[in-house]
Amino acid sequence: MQHSNYQLTIWGARGTAPTPNPAKMRYGGHTCCLSAAIGEEDYIILDCGSGVRPFGQSIAKVRGGAPTRYHIFFSHYHLDHVEGFPYFQPLYDPNSTIIIHGFESGGRSVREILETLMAPPYFPVRLSEVPAQVEYVTVTNQSFQVRDVDIHCLPLVHPDGSLCWRLKHGNNSIIFATDHEHGDATTDAALREFSRGAKYLIFDTTYVEHEYENLRRGWGHSTWYAAVQIALAAQVENLVLFHHHPDYTDDELEAVCRIAQAEFPNTVIAAEGLKLSF
Ligand SMILES: [Zn+2]
Ligand SMILES: [Zn+2]
Repeated sequence: MQHSNYQLTIWGARGTAPTPNPAKMRYGGHTCCLSAAIGEEDYIILDCGSGVRPFGQSIAKVRGGAPTRYHIFFSHYHLDHVEGFPYFQPLYDPNSTIIIHGFESGGRSVREILETLMAPPYFPVRLSEVPAQVEYVTVTNQSFQVRDVDIHCLPLVHPDGSLCWRLKHGNNSIIFATDHEHGDATTDAALREFSRGAKYLIFDTTYVEHEYENLRRGWGHSTWYAAVQIALAAQVENLVLFHHHPDYTDDELEAVCRIAQAEFPNTVIAAEGLKLSF
């Protein structure tokens, strides 16, 4: 059966903190967010860093208040993955249904975590009082389906935990593996199998090797070299460098990408506006 292609659009590829800066505009300063339209009425969203705000604005124009479902899948709840959520315009539209998937962390459900984030004194509007219909799904290890896209998750190695997500449509898979520190043999092996043959592997490449080795072991992030190793072992088609360090300029990211391309030619840098078809 022929599957039409969907597009996963990157709205934010920066890790840690938003970084508006003229030297960082080719790849962008918004923190982590990606989205894909699945048919006309359904959208998949991966993480809600500051990039979810421009996505919400663009979609409000496209949908014009028509009933729409947003299926949000959180990798985890560090600020660079949730800070845009209160500014997501569809929260304020009564025709929106927002289905939020996230794991329980520190004994608190995804609902409790987000209702704490989005309430005074941090934000003037309470999540429990927005006009949209908001539903919550606690993720353990179950799989999900949004129309004809199959969605699975895998736990990664990161302070407070994080989840890798796989979107599969027909024979095409995209792996969203952000906020992960390589080096745990069991997790690395599971991630290789989880990613096997994927069309795109989006991977946490926060650090260059010397910074990781000398200063950042145990901080929960990975490197271009670890990304290349898993891309090769899992025989993915394309590697997408993601979760850019806030201090790295476009030129520095491109220098890293050239080194990575010498080992794995189909390597690209995640950039705001980049679309990955699947
Ligand atoms: Zn992060
Ligand atoms: Zn994190």
